[in-house]
Amino acid sequence: MKYISVAIDGPSGAGKSTLAKDIAAHLNYLYVDTGAIYRTIGYYVLCRKIDPACEEAVTAILPQVDIKMSYGEDGLQHMYLNGQDVTREIRLPEVSYYASCVSAHPPVRAFLLEMQRQLARENHVIMDGRDIGTVVLPDAQVKIYLTASPEARAYRRWRELEQRGTPQPYGTVLADIQARDYNDTNRSVAPLRQAEDAVRLDTTEMNFQQSRDALLAIICEKVDA
Ligand code: C5P
Repeated sequence: MKYISVAIDGPSGAGKSTLAKDIAAHLNYLYVDTGAIYRTIGYYVLCRKIDPACEEAVTAILPQVDIKMSYGEDGLQHMYLNGQDVTREIRLPEVSYYASCVSAHPPVRAFLLEMQRQLARENHVIMDGRDIGTVVLPDAQVKIYLTASPEARAYRRWRELEQRGTPQPYGTVLADIQARDYNDTNRSVAPLRQAEDAVRLDTTEMNFQQSRDALLAIICEKVDA
């Protein structure tokens, strides 16, 4: 059986995970949040008090990292780090910074590549990240580059943090988004960029429902074509 892969890439806070999760449930595809996998490594590096920018130190701990994923009845992608459920911990704001730093190291990306591809070999997937359409699944049937202005993305993330009970000042959230944009687009390996054959969707002026409808229309058109 040929499985369908939908690759959604874009900068932090563009709404990839919320939209992809919703659409995956609607289409009965497996939703894979690859940022959560990088966050799990970032969290381990943070716990071990290792400098996330030091490639050598980060590479040295990779053999100690066992990452597993499972999908709860709640539809949530649970992440397990050496047997411990870290689904909540990896969402802490400081882990975002660690994930962004460790993800720039080629050995980290190589370590996670096969894990991501295997999921797409065995399931219809909607996979979101930064390099899914360009590196991980270059043959994906559908590629979407989802973006929005840094201010719109920061506002959405700020609101999400408030709702989760971990509020941060808007200025801090915006600075964090800008720093991660810089890191993600300027790293030498698998930088964030739009794949040549990806459809670009800018949701700056769209609400959730409009973004969802637009995304679903792109997917349905490509899959049915
Ligand atoms: O998507 P999320 O913000 O959770 O990702 C956390 C970090 O992981 C990003 O800032 C990015 O640096 C990194 N990442 C990546 N490649 C992916 C997914 C995430 O480099 N496919």
